[in-house]
Amino acid sequence: MSSLAHQRCFNHFQRESVARCPDCGRYFCRECITEHDDRVICAACLARIARAPLLRRRALADLGRAAACLLGVVVVWFFFYLVGAALLAIPTSFHEGVLWQSTPD
Ligand SMILES: [Zn+2]
Ligand SMILES: [Zn+2]
Repeated sequence: MSSLAHQRCFNHFQRESVARCPDCGRYFCRECITEHDDRVICAACLARIARAPLLRRRALADLGRAAACLLGVVVVWFFFYLVGAALLAIPTSFHEGVLWQSTPD
């Protein structure tokens, strides 16, 4: 670990590194490294870790929206299917005007 002092920060070439990111293995200066879950990690890896669950949540939301859209299509299709079935169930005589014809005589 004595070589640590001779390493330079990945972001600041003029600064000596104080820690090594366990995630990406790069060396960073005090300003570039942060503590996260009781371990030091670089800002880039921290951002990656913080963003990962958010992406998964967004993907899940997209999936939910797609499912809701599909469900809506099915519901609309079923509604029109019922309307069609109801129209078919109406006797033909209803469409031939006998019901609303004025008195025959
Ligand atoms: Zn890192
Ligand atoms: Zn730095």
